[in-house]
Amino acid sequence: DRMIDGELQDQDVEIEFSLRPSTLAQYIGQDKVKENLTIFIQAAKMREEPLDHVLLYGPPGLGKTTLASIISHEMGVQFRSTSGPAIERAGDLAAILSSLEPGDVLFIDEVHRLPRSVEEVLYAAMEDFFIDIVIGSGPSARSVRIDLPPFTLVGATTRAGLLSAPLRDRFGVLSRLEYYEIKDLCNIVERTADIFNMPIASKAAIEVARRSRGTPRIANRLLKRVRDISQVKGEEEISLESTKEALNMLQVDDAGLDHVDHKLLLGIIEGFHGGPVGLDTIAATIGEESQTIEEVYEPFLLQLGFIQRTPRGRVITSKAYDHLGIKRTGED
Ligand code: ADP
Repeated sequence: DRMIDGELQDQDVEIEFSLRPSTLAQYIGQDKVKENLTIFIQAAKMREEPLDHVLLYGPPGLGKTTLASIISHEMGVQFRSTSGPAIERAGDLAAILSSLEPGDVLFIDEVHRLPRSVEEVLYAAMEDFFIDIVIGSGPSARSVRIDLPPFTLVGATTRAGLLSAPLRDRFGVLSRLEYYEIKDLCNIVERTADIFNMPIASKAAIEVARRSRGTPRIANRLLKRVRDISQVKGEEEISLESTKEALNMLQVDDAGLDHVDHKLLLGIIEGFHGGPVGLDTIAATIGEESQTIEEVYEPFLLQLGFIQRTPRGRVITSKAYDHLGIKRTGED
């Protein structure tokens, strides 16, 4: 597992529950998304109707699940959580939906991975709050209509592009979560340190924030390791020095890059004079799948402005050369 991968890892599980903010006011950053949701939630409450279905999309670890549970909290309803791949059959979905109380939030993570047959049943459920399911098989099979309590579906996906158009169209609210700014991550780090009961120097908090790839999950994970080192050293407040020491030990550099990022950047620099070079060629050179590069490695490097996508392929920017301390040679 990479220290700086936004996907949930075993080491996150024990801390995440206690760190999850439960109100919009405690949810740091993503101001645009919060602003919209605040209005929609208020309006729904005034009309005494469930909130419109919400689609949250963006890279892993940015707070989609957290936001979904906050929505239920703010609406004063129950939160039910499942995921696309966990709902294998239409009957599974029927069982979940018919157990909801009016107004409840059903959260479906990885909603782009719902089986097609389930997705088709979901359309009518979302639109008109009923489902038709087929009971029995062969000549005795018959279709039964089940009315459902009105509910709010909150779907989350890291791959909005893979969502079918009919499903996407049934969400009234589409919110894209962005990588967090340093100041927001810094607030998250300070909040977490507070919950850990371990004060942190503000420079140390900034250092953790800078290396967290714009991702709260990574910030919390790094902070936990930093805290361990600091405590072993007997510090009463987490210092900048032990923060740097811990992060260097974890091989997370000061832009939040690890050996995999370095391998990718150096592969393009050393093999192709920094590009432009096609994705498949890069993949073959560094021995990774194109899809993994595109979906897992690249987004943050693009965000940092270390890589650019051009019609002729990927190009390493001078910002990346500077960061790596390498002088540009070759064509340019
Ligand atoms: P996702 O569902 O997008 O993968 P999560 O909602 O599980 O991400 O968030 C991961 C962790 O990051 C949460 O447990 C929470 O502690 C923290 N987190 C995410 N967003 C925020 C935020 N805006 N403010 C504070 N903590 C956050």
